Amino acid sequence: MATVPTLTLNNGVQLPAIGLGVFQTPPDETTSAVESALTTGYRHIDTAAAYGNEREVGEGIRRSGVPREDVFVETKIWISDYGYDATLHGFDKSAGKLGVDQIDLLILHQALPGRFELTLDAYRALETLLTDGKVRAIGVSNFMPEHLQRLLDETDVVPAVNQIELHPYFQQKELQALHSQHGILTQAWSPIGGITSYREGGTSAFEDPTILEVAAAHGKSAAQVMLRWHIQEGRSAIPKSTKAARIAENFDVFDFELTDNEIARIDALDTGVRRGPDPEDITLEAFGRDIPEA
Ligand code: NDP
Repeated sequence: MATVPTLTLNNGVQLPAIGLGVFQTPPDETTSAVESALTTGYRHIDTAAAYGNEREVGEGIRRSGVPREDVFVETKIWISDYGYDATLHGFDKSAGKLGVDQIDLLILHQALPGRFELTLDAYRALETLLTDGKVRAIGVSNFMPEHLQRLLDETDVVPAVNQIELHPYFQQKELQALHSQHGILTQAWSPIGGITSYREGGTSAFEDPTILEVAAAHGKSAAQVMLRWHIQEGRSAIPKSTKAARIAENFDVFDFELTDNEIARIDALDTGVRRGPDPEDITLEAFGRDIPEA
């Protein structure tokens, strides 16, 4: 079984380079997906309070027989639980559902651009959880440069990660450069371009001629080439699948290497066009929803 290489977060904590994402994984398929990933060799699972499957993630970890301390568990606080006390309680809800005492990486799922004070209070709660040892690292997701700058100016702990939309068609290179400058790890969501295939409009990265050509040259799949591209550029990637064969395929990426030229060709596929929601549009009114108790 392959051993997954790790990335070192800005507080020294080690994060496996490839993890399993479970966005849109129905609760009744989550336990088996997680169990299958861990049996394959994955040691990182990315879920979120808003995905409604934290309980099943916890169950999958327990059923796999892999010791709890060997699995890196990441989850996200939803915007409806922002505010200092609400976010502290958000930890209790997530930890309770996951069935763990400590969460490895807890991040804010979105900035609330129109309610940034509330976002800052939520982050301050993460800082408290870090000090108290309830979480091993903290971070953010979908933060744009101006959100990050304000966070850095007004809080104490530099986020360990910013989890952002990042696939060959949308690479956010300036944001990645800002991350490097501050020691924030870039974590790619839709790393194999899932959002370019399950959301209407535009080409699917799985069918991109350049990616398919590079894949053919290595006897690998498009997904494997995209994951290799992330690894070689030093990012964390969290591909999602509910299917055991694809979960295994997405982990079988440690036995080949893209050339500098191949990497440059994939870098050149950036369209600059976002496929997911614009982080500026996130409001409690439009996206708020109750996160149930554990
Ligand atoms: P991915 O890039 O991981 O792609 C997933 C899609 O590709 C699914 O439709 C899956 O279908 C399919 N797929 C998986 N593996 C293969 C393969 N080897 N060959 C062909 N098709 C494949 O997209 P996601 O948007 O799911 O992103 C991954 C993770 O990132 C999420 O699960 C979540 O953890 C996180 N995320 C975070 C967001 C945020 O706002 N912070 C937003 C979106 C995602 P199937 O399951 O049928 O195999």
